[in-house]
Amino acid sequence: VLFGDSFVDTSVQQPYISLEERGLQFGDGIYEVVRLYSGVFHLLEPHLVRLYRSMEEIELKPTFSKAQLVRWLYELVEQNQFRGDGMIYLQISRGVQPRNHIYDPQNVPTLYAYIVGKERPLSSMQQGIKACSEQDIRWLRCDIKSLNLLPNVMARTSAERKGCTEALFVRNGIVTEGSHSNFFLVKNGALYTHPATHLILNGIVRQYVLSLAHTLEIPVHEEMFGLRDVLQADECFFTATTSEVMPMVQLDGTAIGTGVPGPITYALQEAFSEGVKNTRLH
Ligand code: PMP
Repeated sequence: VLFGDSFVDTSVQQPYISLEERGLQFGDGIYEVVRLYSGVFHLLEPHLVRLYRSMEEIELKPTFSKAQLVRWLYELVEQNQFRGDGMIYLQISRGVQPRNHIYDPQNVPTLYAYIVGKERPLSSMQQGIKACSEQDIRWLRCDIKSLNLLPNVMARTSAERKGCTEALFVRNGIVTEGSHSNFFLVKNGALYTHPATHLILNGIVRQYVLSLAHTLEIPVHEEMFGLRDVLQADECFFTATTSEVMPMVQLDGTAIGTGVPGPITYALQEAFSEGVKNTRLH
């Protein structure tokens, strides 16, 4: 079940998308992926804050209120009677207009969302994953959660062909983030991650993990670092809405630390799981 009546062809009860939809033709839009545990939203508010920021940054004006959007999201869960673990994909694009690079800021946006069941990746979280470094050839506004994911798609596919689960982006010798996740390393008991500049997406789980680290009294440094620092790290992990706190145990075939997920990664995973448990209770 989707929402947004205007996009459902009532004769066949199928959603449709116009040929001259700017999201399709230009990637002119933004999106969010929100987690559900036992059918309950997890960290919804910060996702909404980022969604509105993304829209503002590309001058996309919503024709609905934030309260209406939240009602739609809850309706989506209810109409599907979704009670499992999953995610909602929500996309807002500039809408339909005769094809032209120049956009009309008053154009009515197209919005759609749907739910997909998705279990917590418990076994990879326990074992860790292998990553391959890839050149970060993205634009300079990676802070916007834009629909333009071609460099991410190509990097991850390239990494997958080398036997890796995630691609680790490197720009001018600096490790930025994963193709669809943020990146952290642990050295001498402290956490390091790229600062939230225009070169990375400020992940919701990134922000959450930083707050968990604060609670656990783990020192945090939002600083730039290179591939050599990663290879000499004690522990490494990625964070994202669907993959949570995902240990990286190998980079480009070299083991990180002892080659298995480390104690700080584990402590953060445990703290994250506590939060998941609390969400399920609501
Ligand atoms: N960076 C990139 C490039 C991503 O695509 C994602 C996931 N969408 C993230 C980081 C992680 O963000 P979040 O924690 O909000 O899922």
